[in-house]
Amino acid sequence: MPASESVRCCVCGAPLVPDEIALTRKLINRGAQQFQCMDCLASFFGCSTGLLQEKIAQFRRQGCALFAPLPEE
Ligand SMILES: [Zn+2]
Repeated sequence: MPASESVRCCVCGAPLVPDEIALTRKLINRGAQQFQCMDCLASFFGCSTGLLQEKIAQFRRQGCALFAPLPEE
């Protein structure tokens, strides 16, 4: 089964969503080749996943190109 599309957390192996990949790039390294899930990013930074969710919303509002825009409601 081809798995080239499924990116996984480099710490715990959880499948990642695009926001988690974008957040790793934004917070750790723009050129990152390994990414972390929300839980592992939260423990890495010693913050809550809720704060990371807020950061994602904030970056998205700023129009950061790493984060795919949400469909308009
Ligand atoms: Zn993880």
